[in-house]
Amino acid sequence: MSALSAEPVSILEPLRRNDLRPNLIGLSRAELKALLAEHGLEPFRAGQIWHWVYWHGVRQFAAMSTIARATRERLEELFVIERPQIAVEQRSVDGTRKWLLRLADGNEVECVNIPEADRGSVCVSSQVGCTLTCSFCHTGTQPLVRNLTPAEIVGQFMVARDSYGEWPTPIETTRMLSNIVMMGMGEPLYNLDNVAKALRIAMDDQGIALSKRRITLSTSGIVPLIPRVGSELDVNLAVSLHAVTDDVRDVLVPVNRKWPIATLLEACAAYPGAKNSRRITFEYVMLKGVNDSDADARELVRLLKPIHAKVNLIPFNPWPGAPYECSSNNRIHRFAEIVNAGGLSAPVRTPRGRDILAACGQLKSESTRDRRTRVRDVEARAGL
Ligand code: SAH
Ligand code: SF4
Repeated sequence: MSALSAEPVSILEPLRRNDLRPNLIGLSRAELKALLAEHGLEPFRAGQIWHWVYWHGVRQFAAMSTIARATRERLEELFVIERPQIAVEQRSVDGTRKWLLRLADGNEVECVNIPEADRGSVCVSSQVGCTLTCSFCHTGTQPLVRNLTPAEIVGQFMVARDSYGEWPTPIETTRMLSNIVMMGMGEPLYNLDNVAKALRIAMDDQGIALSKRRITLSTSGIVPLIPRVGSELDVNLAVSLHAVTDDVRDVLVPVNRKWPIATLLEACAAYPGAKNSRRITFEYVMLKGVNDSDADARELVRLLKPIHAKVNLIPFNPWPGAPYECSSNNRIHRFAEIVNAGGLSAPVRTPRGRDILAACGQLKSESTRDRRTRVRDVEARAGL
């Protein structure tokens, strides 16, 4: 990587305005075929376009060299291939890259790539803001503005590939960007239809070709929707547990009042593969004096023993005005020891990109929405 700096780089292009052409990114194969048919284009074009857009990552119809020029010009008149625009790119001294992305309506979301020795995980947002108000999370202080569309969700991963020049889709073992974690802004299960559509596009083997083993969806515990993640997507599941008693979890993750720990763990135990090969990850943020005692660690073991689980201990990442402090390193390691001794793997997640506020729970954009018009009915729209 060249310039290693935490200085934001602004590379904003003008917004696309008054352009009513539909975006081809974000459509399922069937929808793409149907849209082409509406305009008298042959069904086989859908496969060709899919390959150019998601395998080669092209952004212009003119680059689709296997399609005759006249057809390319017609496609150009009718449609666009549009990703979110990069408003600001920041690079952490540790190699993490964070993009502030501007959407067609001017709203903004953040997306982060966390490179590691043998892989890179792109942390993708599902909503602008979040309706939930977890008291330790920066995103939770930003009221929900809106759900992201499938194009805006899969588009975040495509922007990351653009940034690393990782097109056409490389073979799996050589990728710098090898994984998607739905751990950015928002609660993915409150926008499950769009998240599922985007992930199905990312998993299509004629395109971005990420296997389901390389995708992890993290939820704060929207219990009634967890079975759908298993049956429709079968990706890895991560659950933001963060506390071992309902009293504490009610404060940290207020949605716990609706679906308390016992109900949540029942849904986890029923997740496909949870009982054998595939382990569910339980995220546990380390908050000084709140959830980090030896007794908490022992209770965590007791709760998770019946489930095929691993624990991810996340040192609390501070943000301006946060009402918590991170547990000391000694405390975190003692906690990890007890959990390990109880037979659960409990790696401590090294904080990445803290200098650019790109670490877990630090994401937040300036997009706001008038409180009166704030969406209060996400649950209704999520079918709950
Ligand atoms: N909304 C989803 C996914 C996004 S958050 C969810 O809550 O699971 C990704 C992870 O970071 C979650 O486990 C979240 O609880 C955790 N997190 C939030 N704020 C944090 C902070 N300040 N420090 C460390 N982890 C945090
Ligand atoms: Fe929303 Fe997840 Fe943050 Fe809770 S932790 S406020 S669910 S983004």
